[in-house]
Amino acid sequence: MEFPATIPALPTSPEGFRSGFVALIGRPNVGKSTLLNQLVGEKVAITSPVAQTTRNRLRAILTTEAAQLVLLDTPGIHKPHHLLGERLVQSARGAIGEVDVVLLLVDGSEPAGRGDGFIVELLKHCRAPVHVALNKNDLVDPERAEQLAASYRELAGDWPLHPVSALSGEGTGALVAALSAELPEGPHLYPADAVSDQPEQLLMAELIREQVLHQTREEVPHSVAVSIERVVDDGPRTAILATVLVERSSQKGILIGKGGSMLKTIGQGARLQMEKIFEGPVYLELFVKVVPGWRRSAARLSELGYRGD
Ligand code: GDP
Ligand code: MG
Repeated sequence: MEFPATIPALPTSPEGFRSGFVALIGRPNVGKSTLLNQLVGEKVAITSPVAQTTRNRLRAILTTEAAQLVLLDTPGIHKPHHLLGERLVQSARGAIGEVDVVLLLVDGSEPAGRGDGFIVELLKHCRAPVHVALNKNDLVDPERAEQLAASYRELAGDWPLHPVSALSGEGTGALVAALSAELPEGPHLYPADAVSDQPEQLLMAELIREQVLHQTREEVPHSVAVSIERVVDDGPRTAILATVLVERSSQKGILIGKGGSMLKTIGQGARLQMEKIFEGPVYLELFVKVVPGWRRSAARLSELGYRGD
């Protein structure tokens, strides 16, 4: 019996090949999503100047000649304020238990702070080796570099430190090599050209949410969720029907904008991103719906794919 053509064959792995799972941990806004996109060389995670953009655990896959790394992007660890916040933290904690190596990402352009100490305490209890990437190295004034590194050295004990810039890619080669060396010997887990195992619909929803974050002001972003209602693949074109959920009707007004202008801008931005990723024309129709208190509704969170595991 033959496998259906949709299941891609795995490549033969060379002798000494390593494969395994890497958890990416760090406070919101340190650059986790930017690093994932930089490493994988494609847009797999959305980024934004607004904290707490990443809600779902994303797997990005990075294949080199020597290793395959499956990277789990986790929502930033922070003190939870409501149910959605709690699920984000649970999800990050869950990821730490399952992996071969933990990569703690910090904003190396700022001295180590109390928030970093909280995460370090959490990681001391994990069985996997921990590496620390000092990100945003491009912003570090060379005169301060030593002092900044020393503050992290004190915090991280004997965990290896790697200065990197997720934005420029500087230092990421050495980081990947160090992480690869921590993985067990093993075969490819995914095809060599795979970049993400994220279901496409989740990616579509994230691209729309990203546009909402970029186009609107602070009063909207944290109470927005996107639900993909229908995807119709008609010939070369993909038609997508999506609903943007907000908590208050004032937010609905902001999202729709004067004469629908804001929603149009959001839709166009998301559509352009989708067309790049799906490599074909996309027709996107957006609706905005007010669902008071959706962030506190467990059933609604599960429905939207924010799992509590
Ligand atoms: P996350 O919340 O940890 O996923 O952070 P993001 O990847 O969304 O990044 C947060 C912000 O920091 C964005 O505005 C990024 O462009 C910026 N950023 C991330 N990495 C770097 C870096 O290496 N250098 C600089 N200058 N900015 C960065
Ligand atoms: Mg992120």
